[in-house]
Amino acid sequence: MYNVPEYSIKTIFIDKSLLLEKNLIVQNALEYANHTKINIEYISNPKEVFNSFLKETEIFKKDIILLCKNKGKFLSSCPGSDGMVCCQYFVINLGIGCIYDCHYCYLQNFMNQPIITVFGNIEDALHEIKSKILNKKFHFRVGTGEYSDSLALDPIFKISPILINFFTDIPNATLELKTKSSFVDHLLDLPHHSKTVISWSLNPQNIIKEIETYTASLEERILSARKAQEAGYKIGFHLDPIIYHEDWEKSYKELLDLVFDHINPERIAWISLGTFRYSPGQKEIMQKRFINDDLTKKEMIIGSDGKFRYYKYIRYEIYSKLKEYIQKKDPKLFFYLCMETQYMWDKIFHFIPKSSKNLDMYFQKRLQYIDSIAKV
Ligand code: SF4
Repeated sequence: MYNVPEYSIKTIFIDKSLLLEKNLIVQNALEYANHTKINIEYISNPKEVFNSFLKETEIFKKDIILLCKNKGKFLSSCPGSDGMVCCQYFVINLGIGCIYDCHYCYLQNFMNQPIITVFGNIEDALHEIKSKILNKKFHFRVGTGEYSDSLALDPIFKISPILINFFTDIPNATLELKTKSSFVDHLLDLPHHSKTVISWSLNPQNIIKEIETYTASLEERILSARKAQEAGYKIGFHLDPIIYHEDWEKSYKELLDLVFDHINPERIAWISLGTFRYSPGQKEIMQKRFINDDLTKKEMIIGSDGKFRYYKYIRYEIYSKLKEYIQKKDPKLFFYLCMETQYMWDKIFHFIPKSSKNLDMYFQKRLQYIDSIAKV
């Protein structure tokens, strides 16, 4: 079993209310802590823990985890972005915060809590997901990678195997686990029935080294993807955020070459493309935290959703080149633009989805196609 990176985690605070029932997530955490130097502290009031760290630090700490109950909703639709083409994705909120430290991470600006939080009341989450999804006339794509990395904390809490198992019994849903880690070995022998897509966010190794701190290398991510594909999982890739830099064309082409050298494109569920963007307020945080930050020095324009993006002509150049490379590898491969304008969709695909439902249909078709070739 893998360990989380060396530098992390110093303490896990466990909400005592989770101890009243035989909680699997707590048991997993205790078992992991047993063979590491992680300190366990039991607490009665999660708010007090938040407040004590709020006083201590302006920005969230990455070496402290609070394991507590979520008393709110677990499942919600992806908030998307005003005026951008959306793909009707659903988000499972099983915690917020991440042990990695990507310089561009939107959580820096979004999180209003000072430490990583993991929700241990998984049974409540599964109950809610089931009641909202089952028997609806719609195929749901749901993921856990919105407010944290889906697999980064799996060595400790092992939440993903529970979800993978759960989704085998939900005919009208596909689970997506999105990661920058290489933690897949514990998932390989599970009876997943191909209901889970494991996807990796990718960037060229020079970018990973500079700004995706503590994450797995490009090679490690691709080799884990290959292992997962060999174990029958559908695989996804997110080239997001694409970073515009001097050698961008060469480095993203090499990245795609490496992917297709190792991965069978026929079983890739999807590839998303999205250029670097940020919300107001994030630039200042990034410049404060990363003194030599280059990302926010590029000229950007503000979009209808209030986010800053590269100029249109730059985004067009990037997407059209990457489209050319991807289509050369496999013209049937399904790829899409994440949080992009109708204008950009039209320029790149000569088509604008009529609605998020309409776009969602292409995802379903791709999943069905992969299932159909698996049966041959
Ligand atoms: S892996 Fe994702 S959630 Fe974690 S720091 Fe990077 S961008 Fe943020």
